[in-house]
Amino acid sequence: MTPDAPEILRALEAGEFFPVFQPLVELRTGQLAGFEVLARWQSPHSGLVMPDDFIPAFEHSGFIDTLTHQLLGKTFDALSLTGRPLMISVNLSPTQLLDAGLPARLETLARAWKFPLDRLTLEITESALVDDLPRATSVAQDLKSLQCRLALDDFGTGYSSLRHLQALPFDELKVDRSFVRFMDTDRECRKIVASVVGLGQSLGLMTIAEGVEDSAQAEMLRWLSCDLAQGWLFGHPVPAGELPAILARPHWD
Ligand code: C2E
Ligand code: CA
Ligand code: CA
Ligand code: CA
Repeated sequence: MTPDAPEILRALEAGEFFPVFQPLVELRTGQLAGFEVLARWQSPHSGLVMPDDFIPAFEHSGFIDTLTHQLLGKTFDALSLTGRPLMISVNLSPTQLLDAGLPARLETLARAWKFPLDRLTLEITESALVDDLPRATSVAQDLKSLQCRLALDDFGTGYSSLRHLQALPFDELKVDRSFVRFMDTDRECRKIVASVVGLGQSLGLMTIAEGVEDSAQAEMLRWLSCDLAQGWLFGHPVPAGELPAILARPHWD
């Protein structure tokens, strides 16, 4: 089911989109480092809809920015209730990094919620950045001036990724879960993960492994000195109401 523009507008106005939060865990210490925010849609017709089924329609119809802002507002609300200075990562669609107005809008939003932007990471996938690298670089510089952090998401799955690492001011590198997934059983995957983590480290980036599902993977990543891990081993994404229970948990092994 792909929502059309009138349905997207209706759902946005009805406030049917909400953030879920997946823990990011520091591998060295087992401490919670923050959360990645993922979009969900509670549709009156279709029930709970996952992002892969509606994000592309938002990108094509030009409403993706409205969605991001709605999600960020709800995210800042939820975080202020926890009273903890948590780090938050949100996903941007590649076209949003070509939008010169984005930094100013983010600044206004964060100021309204009194959320310090040095606690916000913007995750970007490689795919479409290549369209206009000079413009993406300029928007990225503006975001850095606001103290936002930038992460290169799904690393290894797109194209021209080394060019992006060189040209854009990234702070974090996320190893795609398609490599992490088989790293305990497949020698090539293990070597790819080791190389990507090593590349991130040599560039001075924080490294994050996605899709960590079992402790053998976590152990290997710890051995590689990968900084953070995210995946079902540590926790599924949960709605805001479940944050207090997660924050009460002392340790994440
Ligand atoms: P992503 O940014 O790579 O997010 C990670 C995805 O992996 C999430 O799927 C998450 O639920 C899933 N995941 C986490 N841990 C595990 C694990 O251990 N095993 C497996 N198999 N999967 C795991 P989700 O929530 O369905 O999101 C899918 C994609 O939709 C995201 O991939 C992201 O690219 C996009 N997306 C989600 N929210 C937004 C948003 O607000 N804006 C934009 N532009 N894109 C979004
Ligand atoms: Ca992501
Ligand atoms: Ca990812
Ligand atoms: Ca993805």
